Amino acid sequence: MTQSNTLARQELKQRACAAIERRKAELIGVSREILSNPEPGFREVKTAALVGQKFQEMGIAHRNGLALTGLKGTVPGGSGAGPRLAIIGELDSLVVNEHPYADPETNAAHACGHHCQIGMMLGALAGLMEPEVLEQLSGEIIPFAVPAEEFIEVGHRLDLRTQGKIEFMGGKQELIRLGEFDDVDMAMMCHTASDMGDRKFAIGGTSNGHVVKYVRFIGRGSHAGSAPHMGVNALNAASFALQAINSNREIFKDEDTVRIHGIMTHGGEAVNAVPSDVRLEWRVRSGSPKAVVTNSAIVDRCFKAGALAVGASVDITNIPGYLPMRHDTGLLDLFEQNSGSLIGPSSVLVMPIRRNRGGSTDMGDLSQLLPACHPYTSGAEGPGHSKDYVVTDYESAVINPAKIMAMVAIDLLSDGAAKAKEVIANHRPAMKKQAYLKFQRERATTVEFDGAA
Ligand SMILES: [Zn+2]
Ligand SMILES: [Zn+2]
Repeated sequence: MTQSNTLARQELKQRACAAIERRKAELIGVSREILSNPEPGFREVKTAALVGQKFQEMGIAHRNGLALTGLKGTVPGGSGAGPRLAIIGELDSLVVNEHPYADPETNAAHACGHHCQIGMMLGALAGLMEPEVLEQLSGEIIPFAVPAEEFIEVGHRLDLRTQGKIEFMGGKQELIRLGEFDDVDMAMMCHTASDMGDRKFAIGGTSNGHVVKYVRFIGRGSHAGSAPHMGVNALNAASFALQAINSNREIFKDEDTVRIHGIMTHGGEAVNAVPSDVRLEWRVRSGSPKAVVTNSAIVDRCFKAGALAVGASVDITNIPGYLPMRHDTGLLDLFEQNSGSLIGPSSVLVMPIRRNRGGSTDMGDLSQLLPACHPYTSGAEGPGHSKDYVVTDYESAVINPAKIMAMVAIDLLSDGAAKAKEVIANHRPAMKKQAYLKFQRERATTVEFDGAA
């Protein structure tokens, strides 16, 4: 690289950052508007409409309705064809009772900061679409607003699957299936975090893979006072199963970062009848796909044990969850350099590649197929997914990551996209799309067990 190129690139970054700075109020405003209109996955109708409106205002050609609510734009650079870089923002909220910004009707709430992701995605685009910046870039920038990262409302999503509206229940999984990442060469996004101490940006580490379970215990109802002996108590079966799961916790290996947890979504019909229909949404997380498979089988065994103990039956629907995050090292280097230059290297936390945060993301699935990066930015307070998780510093949560992503994109796509081509050449995907779909489909199983047989 020549000296003049280096200077030119710095100049491009400064112009992109200045454009983001000029639109700061608008970008934070978009994030706040989404915060006030939270919608869980595959239901992000208002959020998608807002993104569509913003794309239109910015002159971004796009398609919508992808995996029900996703929007995918395309912004060609002015220096000819080249790699296509997706900048991703997640549309969906969680459901968290008592969150200060919860929807009073649905309890939907942005307790994971995804509302900031749309602001930062639009901000990065605003910087990159400055005419003197865009004309120096090769290839294409693909702003991609994706649905349903939070794997919740499993019963509802099973209904969508039954109706043929989706096959996979995570947004990026479904978009991979639909071929919407076939024309994407690399992908990046940033996620807000609240646990960073005095750091403002964190890169590296990994996440858990998981399998999702929809479990139905079926017993037999009868009068709980006069004829309990005529019933089969499905709630007791479930309760016994949960105890069986807890009895296995001592065999899980520390290095597998196992998390097994869930909720009961239906616990019986009426207090005076023996419960005959009890439903759980369950999750088995582990650090490697192999451990997910092993631990999922243990949990299925425990559900059967509950049914066996009281003579109930159990139906387990196993749903392919997410794969562990696999950061591309070339992209990590660019995020480290650019975040360091924006906020100072001492504000950037570089996590060891094996450090597992315990959670899961469908960015992990995408990272198995192409170069991807999923850093964290500060700006939130309170435990994630709780009523106390609130973004308090929008500069850190929206503006900084917008600038950092714009700077990384400039490094990748300027100079004939030499850096992007290098990242792609050095990247070894863990699997190809067809192998991914096969692997995930093999995990979609149903188990029916009759404990009275
Ligand atoms: Zn989350
Ligand atoms: Zn999240």
